[in-house]
Amino acid sequence: MAKIRRQNTAPELALRQALFARGIRFRLHQRKLPGSPDIVLPAARMVVFVHGCFWHRHLGCSKTTSPKNNAAFWEEKFKANVTRDKKFVRALRKLGWRVFTVWECQTQTNLVRAVNRIETAYLTTRLQRRQRARD
Ligand SMILES: [Zn+2]
Repeated sequence: MAKIRRQNTAPELALRQALFARGIRFRLHQRKLPGSPDIVLPAARMVVFVHGCFWHRHLGCSKTTSPKNNAAFWEEKFKANVTRDKKFVRALRKLGWRVFTVWECQTQTNLVRAVNRIETAYLTTRLQRRQRARD
């Protein structure tokens, strides 16, 4: 439980597989970037976090339950996680990265939509970069 940002989780693997199948190439867990994003697409300067709904508090999600025992302890812990996530997003944006979050539940129920969103942004950005290079 000490290490909240577990790597190579099932949701993460599902998303990676789907992106790879679309011909999108990426790197994994770039430790030199804030928050060590799960998926990094350098060609489009995009990063993707795959978040567990419980730990990262997916709002309105049925997986985002709150333990009844030690409620105050958990609230503190959850708050710290959310604050940390926000801090990483801000730091990444400052460095010029676009940040995407895919929730665990989305990889189970709506993976295609999550992949479409990332693919569209990826292709658009690459196209713009190529055009800019040509001008
Ligand atoms: Zn969720």
